Amino acid sequence: MAYFSAKHSPQECNYDIYDKELLAIIKALEEWQPELEGSQSQFEIITDHKNLATFATSKQLNARQARWAEFLSQFDFRIVYRPGTLNSRADALSRRPQDTPKDTTDSRIHSRFKALIDPSKFSTDFLSTDFLSTLSLYTLDLSQHIDDLITASYAKSPIIQAMLDCLTNSRQWSPALRSRLRLSFAECQIIGGRIYHRGRLVIPPDDPDIQFQIVYRTHTSSPAGHPGRDKTLDLVSRYYWWPGVSHTVGEFISGCLPCDKSKVKRNLPQGLLKPINVPFEPWQDISVDYITPLPVCARRGLQFQHIAVVVDRLTKLRHFIPTETLEAEELARRFINQVYTLYGTPQSIISDQGS
Ligand SMILES: [Zn+2]
Repeated sequence: MAYFSAKHSPQECNYDIYDKELLAIIKALEEWQPELEGSQSQFEIITDHKNLATFATSKQLNARQARWAEFLSQFDFRIVYRPGTLNSRADALSRRPQDTPKDTTDSRIHSRFKALIDPSKFSTDFLSTDFLSTLSLYTLDLSQHIDDLITASYAKSPIIQAMLDCLTNSRQWSPALRSRLRLSFAECQIIGGRIYHRGRLVIPPDDPDIQFQIVYRTHTSSPAGHPGRDKTLDLVSRYYWWPGVSHTVGEFISGCLPCDKSKVKRNLPQGLLKPINVPFEPWQDISVDYITPLPVCARRGLQFQHIAVVVDRLTKLRHFIPTETLEAEELARRFINQVYTLYGTPQSIISDQGS
């Protein structure tokens, strides 16, 4: 009677389960190789792992399995299956609590517990929190009833608390509230601990989360489903008010993916790009643009402020013409004097029309 047990090395922990099972056999055979190799009769390997049958089918072996296959060919054995319930002694030995990895300091876990790409491989700004914060997803918690959310929002909103205080103890808003809210004091009233303005519930202005919750729930759950901006605003405004409600709704709709996907494009299809014709003769096709504004330059009693640049599109020869104004009249006059007199009438003039 002999006994042998071994622990997986950190590398062996990464093997898939079939290889781990087969590895147990390999290790046992290595241990008793001298006794088993020269055995006169066939010996039995008893295992509780039916999965080993997968090695009975032909398949592409990896380098490790090919090495094992060669090793196994030296032995004359038969694999016998015995269910785990009948194999309790071996099971008990392989499941000793003191053999399982305790924490990440164990070498078997430690080699797996690491960053796939070393942080030093990234440029410094890549991992900065600024960058990562732009990647955070905004997810709404829809598990709670909107009424509970509003109650919680009321409790933690300093503005709402100040409003409640004014409405109970004063005859008007405090100056700070007046400048922030633009809400008629006389038309506000407290019902059941909440503020209503013309019958609409006032939502804490300083809590964008609750505002988003309301817009989201209204926009996505209406019977029509994802109504447009005006309709959503109408639905929200029937029951709720907060400063900038239409802005919040507009912002939400513009970011709503289902709406964006299903939106019908109403503008004309974009035209094709029309490349500028290739010029064939010098000074037949020219372009005109201004360099402006420039510091005033006084010459011959004139105040020049801009430079008109006339470029021949073929030769790229250019004339820089100082001008006093950007008026068409002056440009025409100077163009005639300094370009037309030299090269005659061009076939085409390209300009950005002052934009
Ligand atoms: Zn939508």
